[in-house]
Amino acid sequence: MIEPALFWFQNDLRIEDNPLLNQCLAENQSVIFLYHFQPNIRWCQQAQWGVQRTRFVVECLADLNKSLEARGASLNIIEGNGVDAIHRLLKKTKANRLYKAHTTGSYARDMLQAIKSKHDELAILQDHTEALLEASQLPFEIEDTPQQYTPFRKRVEKLSPPVLSLDATTNQVHWERCSFPTLDSLRNFAAWQISHPVAVSLKHIAPHQRFFVRGGETAGAQALKNYLAHPGAVLRYKETRNALDENLASTRLSPWLATGCLSARQYYHAVREFEQTYQANDSTYWLIFELLWREFFYWRGIVDGKKLFRLSGIRAKKPLVTFNPQAFTAWCQANTPSSLVNAFIKQLIATGWMSNRGRQIAASYLINEYKMDWRYGAAFFEKHLIDYYCGSNYGNWQYIAGVGSDPRGGRYFNVQKQADTYDRDGSFVRAWGAEEGDDGSPAVDAADWPIH
Ligand code: FAD
Repeated sequence: MIEPALFWFQNDLRIEDNPLLNQCLAENQSVIFLYHFQPNIRWCQQAQWGVQRTRFVVECLADLNKSLEARGASLNIIEGNGVDAIHRLLKKTKANRLYKAHTTGSYARDMLQAIKSKHDELAILQDHTEALLEASQLPFEIEDTPQQYTPFRKRVEKLSPPVLSLDATTNQVHWERCSFPTLDSLRNFAAWQISHPVAVSLKHIAPHQRFFVRGGETAGAQALKNYLAHPGAVLRYKETRNALDENLASTRLSPWLATGCLSARQYYHAVREFEQTYQANDSTYWLIFELLWREFFYWRGIVDGKKLFRLSGIRAKKPLVTFNPQAFTAWCQANTPSSLVNAFIKQLIATGWMSNRGRQIAASYLINEYKMDWRYGAAFFEKHLIDYYCGSNYGNWQYIAGVGSDPRGGRYFNVQKQADTYDRDGSFVRAWGAEEGDDGSPAVDAADWPIH
């Protein structure tokens, strides 16, 4: 057997516009495709992904596997200790090239380092596939990425992101000259899905509980097309984007962007094309403005690594916090004294999605009313969000907690004022069957304060 290369998918679950995948196919004659399935929150050992997030990711993998099968390949799933599994695979296949996109957060980086320490000869080939811009385009060294959004945006917003890389048809020639060995030691996705307890239990989720989004590159491309086919909505995005639960008020493309079923460049170029066809206005500018927040958190996440998960955040500024288990449980179970916050949490658990405004209010509530360590809330979001994206989630939580990139130092949302502005007639709260709860928690007193 020709020594194969390994291609490790993570947040780049697509075939189209995937430059690292193209490079791998062009440089090798034999490729094994991998995904490391680990549906837990790695820094909270016990916490498993919620049902919607798990469902969404399994759908993304099924779609990716289908695309690979159409090209004679297949996706292999590894579970458990990824370092050991890849180590065994490298030994067995004698592969000496591993392709893996860079990603925010430090776990994947630690894993790669651990693998490299066992395989001196291994070449690890990486690319910033998750980003809109190429690293070489940045007008600063990656380590010098501005710490705040506005200076970052001002320095990058005039740059032209690369055009989309080869599409799957042009790329056919690379697929044809490659072989995709099957190894008994690996579980191909189709076999994994049939027997895996998580995937099997997901089959029993009734269609009406699946809500509005399906995972995968195919569904992501369709969602982008659908959104842009509503010029009236697109051209009003800036005014409507804060709505709590209105179809087309915002793009709702985050689940596919986060998993890489849709690339930031596909999104960007589609918006530019829309501007050519219809018109450019403040709202189309704002669609890119928001995408640049994602870009900002991506590059900062690359730089900040483990600091993303520290209570003191990137500013090394430790907030005073307490831990009140009743209050945290009430927040997670939609049983706080605020019916609006309860509605957001119900929406999150049921659908895996929440509006940006909802996230800000729910996060502010946990941080400012309950004085909790923001990381508990961030982990709860990580568990449930189908658009969970490490840099954006932890970056936004830090921002609201005042330990991140906000020059103003934290955000406090007055929940009653927010309800009056965004849910004046109470229809959002009613739609989610949310009521004022009784969090059962005594007021925070001196004995609880502070524990850190
Ligand atoms: P749109 O308004 O249509 O925006 C278009 C795209 O721009 C989004 O899909 C997203 O990729 C990007 N974007 C928009 N706002 C932000 C932002 N503030 N930060 C980063 N990117 C942004 N977004 C995630 O993708 N994953 C997360 O895990 C995540 N966690 C969050 C946690 C908190 C506490 C907060 C306040 C925000 C979080 N966000 C996260 C950002 C934002 O809420 C979502 O990206 C947005 O609500 C998704 O809906 P949309 O696709 O309709 O966004």
